[in-house]
Amino acid sequence: MLEKVLFLVLDGLGDRPIKELGGATPLEAAHTPHLDRLAQQGECGMLHTIGRGIRPGSDTAHLTIFGYDKDEFYAGRGPIEAAGIGLELCDGDVALRCNLATVDDDLMILDRRAGRIHAVTPFTTALDGIEIDQVRFLLKPGTAHRAILVMRGPGLSSAITDNDPHEEGVPVRTVMPTDDSPGAKKTADLLNQYVSRAYPILRDHPENQVRGQAGKLPANYLLLRGPGRYRRIPSFQERYGLRACCVAGGGLYKGIAALLGMEVVDVPGATGLPDTDVSGKFRTAVQSLADCDFVFVHVKAADSLGEDGDFVGKRSFIEKVDAAAAAFRDLPDNVLLVILADHTTPCELRAHSADPVPILVHGSGVRVDAVSAYSERACTSGGLGFLTGIDVIPQILNLLGRTPLTGG
Ligand code: ZN
Repeated sequence: MLEKVLFLVLDGLGDRPIKELGGATPLEAAHTPHLDRLAQQGECGMLHTIGRGIRPGSDTAHLTIFGYDKDEFYAGRGPIEAAGIGLELCDGDVALRCNLATVDDDLMILDRRAGRIHAVTPFTTALDGIEIDQVRFLLKPGTAHRAILVMRGPGLSSAITDNDPHEEGVPVRTVMPTDDSPGAKKTADLLNQYVSRAYPILRDHPENQVRGQAGKLPANYLLLRGPGRYRRIPSFQERYGLRACCVAGGGLYKGIAALLGMEVVDVPGATGLPDTDVSGKFRTAVQSLADCDFVFVHVKAADSLGEDGDFVGKRSFIEKVDAAAAAFRDLPDNVLLVILADHTTPCELRAHSADPVPILVHGSGVRVDAVSAYSERACTSGGLGFLTGIDVIPQILNLLGRTPLTGG
């Protein structure tokens, strides 16, 4: 009887035929005996994660494959990133992603990442907790040059623009409301006041004097993007009765998991980069099945390599994932293994595309189809057919015997 789920998302795994690989995709060209064995013993199909012809972002794709309709539950990137660094948000908070950046005296952007500064805590600490008109500004460090800004107070809106022009050699922008609501105007005004107040504090910060003496660019400005207004989402456990946890390296994925009430398990060596310890993640995931009913494992690098156009690196990384998948050889009989991707990232495009991705399910009692390999080509003839992302959790619940009878 299946009771638990190991849910492995290989980010950006899908691809298109590549001439230099003899017309194969990186997944088809890779030597993947473990994944292929799982495909032979399980049931496969193809997945349009959000819908046919829709190019998914990683955030909306993940929400959808967890059964959360993006139109109802997606509130922008800021709240996800905030949750990813462990911030507890309150209903009505507006969260934004930030860069610590370098500007000149005319507020022209010299470097959007302040010389790729590694640690921003001294700067965020100086600006954390400022209050303007009953709105508190919480600024917390993220990774490298990044930070998260949370505005907490009444009547805020996320209907505002970025102040980040996303390029260098141009002036910073003023935050503007994008609708006529009083909340949007208020939020834009307050953010502009906060950024103006932050600028001299950053410019004159002792840490910037130290950086200057070392020949480094100062971190003297806050560039803001990705505003989102938080509201509580029903947790994965509330919706499905399954206690869930997450094994991931990237903040975005930890953030989505935290927003859905999953416990985020830390794995040393899980970097989200090609050097990530995939074996360590898979071992941790298998161990987590002892305490959790649903273990979400996220592996990032196939997507990044696709965005770099590095099809040889993508093929090698897939082989690394396959070798680590040896950890799934002796899963207990009560575990359903699901392997899928959140979208296709063709090396040729260096961006996400709407092409469907292969999905496989494997476990005791799962039907076995004729598919003999886990790949874009082979899975098109699988027993699951072509699914959309919102169908994935219902399919899983059916295999777990948790689906109520429709009718009598
Ligand atoms: Zn993705």
